[in-house]
Amino acid sequence: MRNQEHSGNAYDVVVVGGGAAGLSAALILGRSRRSVLVVDAGEPRNAPAAHMHGYPSRDGMAPGAFLAEVRREVAAYGVEIVRDRVTAAEPDGSDAFDVTLADGGRVHARRLVVATGLVDELPDLPGVAERWGNDVIHCPYCHGWEVRDQAIGVLYGKASGSHQALLFSQLSDDVALFLNGADESELPDSEWQMLAAAGVSVVSGKLDGLVVTDDALSGVRLADGRVFARSVFVVPPRMTPRNALLTALGARTKETPAGPFVDVDPTGLTSVPGVWAVGNAAGPAEQVVNAASAGYRAGVTLNVELLHADLERAAERRRSGAFSAEGERAVARARGARA
Ligand SMILES: Cc1cc2nc3c(=O)[nH]c(=O)nc-3n(C[C@H](O)[C@H](O)[C@H](O)COP(=O)(O)OP(=O)(O)OC[C@H]3O[C@@H](n4cnc5c(N)ncnc54)[C@H](O)[C@@H]3O)c2cc1C
Repeated sequence: MRNQEHSGNAYDVVVVGGGAAGLSAALILGRSRRSVLVVDAGEPRNAPAAHMHGYPSRDGMAPGAFLAEVRREVAAYGVEIVRDRVTAAEPDGSDAFDVTLADGGRVHARRLVVATGLVDELPDLPGVAERWGNDVIHCPYCHGWEVRDQAIGVLYGKASGSHQALLFSQLSDDVALFLNGADESELPDSEWQMLAAAGVSVVSGKLDGLVVTDDALSGVRLADGRVFARSVFVVPPRMTPRNALLTALGARTKETPAGPFVDVDPTGLTSVPGVWAVGNAAGPAEQVVNAASAGYRAGVTLNVELLHADLERAAERRRSGAFSAEGERAVARARGARA
């Protein structure tokens, strides 16, 4: 059965978001000859970073170059990719969806894959936003090796506590945790002991901002004027999923340590039939490789689900006598081949 023929603006699948998760779903759906439209606003989460790490065979590649390569691969299977933003997705009254784009266009999708990622809300501290993805970082697995043995500052976070400082102590002997005015008693005894065992120093007092010299981080300044020489600063961003389309469709959410994210089954299916959510839209911990894996899994599941839906409909038509002469010949051929 060939599926890659779509009429006008109707697709088997519209993928919202063209990061690793969305493009991976599109790749496997395109290879299954599904008609697929990827709508991508072009703001992947790791865009501020010069290099991507931890993706086997692509370690150290520029994030933009990685996505350009995947787009090329996906397009080769007939998938359409447009630079636009989906502003609404609504049930069409049957089991499909009407999708509205920011440019005013409307398309029809039998199934939706929402891969819109998340937004990192950075701590409101002078210098942090400007240096984000460069020498202000958040993830030891993404950038830790590159900053090994450097003077690393870690910003204490209410939710993350001293966790990041302990992780970065694996990578450098010079790690300082900045409490930024948080009460020392917030840290339980067990955490103080682990910080001491890891050799992490703890700096009390409110922060004033980052010190930048020759376009590189050189220190962390406290409100009392003291400056601690640091070449790397680790912050805990507040991660907010871009899930407005999903919640508008009525998708159930669940609590995570980073706040509410949409609830999905192991294949990425949300509580709304026909709607999958993958990558950072569905979970704060997804790295690029996990996002790609989730997209692949959703694509495979969705393809099987559509195949069964189509075949059941065709079988029903056949039972009701509406099957074409060509269809009857196909069944006879299949029976003959089995005999
Ligand atoms: C600074 C930084 C560095 C990182 N480095 C690494 C690293 O080295 N290795 C690693 O594995 N992970 C890294 N990560 C994490 C990585 O960015 C994510 O794991 C990955 O981007 C998740 O992929 P995704 O497809 O879910 O979302 P994204 O890559 O964020 O893609 C989502 C896409 O959807 C689009 N979109 C959103 N809303 C809409 C809409 N309504 N309509 C159309 N399009 C929409 C966005 O514009 C975006 O293009 C890093 C993160 C940060 C912040």
